[in-house]
Amino acid sequence: MFQKFYPSEDINSTYDIDFESYFEKGYRGIIFDVDNTLVFHNAPADERAKALFQRLKKIGFDFCFTSNNKEPRVKKFCQDVGGTHYIYKANKPSTKGYKKAMRLMGTNKENTFFVGDQLFTDVYGANRTGIHSILVKPMNPKEEIQIVLKRYLEKIVLWRYRSKKR
Ligand SMILES: [Mg+2]
Repeated sequence: MFQKFYPSEDINSTYDIDFESYFEKGYRGIIFDVDNTLVFHNAPADERAKALFQRLKKIGFDFCFTSNNKEPRVKKFCQDVGGTHYIYKANKPSTKGYKKAMRLMGTNKENTFFVGDQLFTDVYGANRTGIHSILVKPMNPKEEIQIVLKRYLEKIVLWRYRSKKR
């Protein structure tokens, strides 16, 4: 019953992902959540984030930020890391933002993957879209109350997912 929330993979941090190997496998586009996936919630792009996106460009990836946050936040982050595509108020887990992201990048379901920190919005949306999904651990330990409640439910689903993987 929880399968629809299971990520294709779970990795500790976005910064631990071996992006080069995904390029070798044929992936060309990456959709990123921003808050708690790349930096703390509402935090500006830091040097580590900027370096990551320079590296991704060098590899040959296109990328799109797809966030449920407001336009000024997402636009600024995208500009600061030298990105071109962003979608704000994406309303994840709606599939609209993911599809639009692929249109903007000129990629498809087979050569695009997603990276995000939340099961019920990020991963569920990617699964509904039919693209490979990577769940990362949320960066910020201090979160708003509605997120704390969701995390509790996520723990139950993750426990099932991980016990199935074992
Ligand atoms: Mg997030």
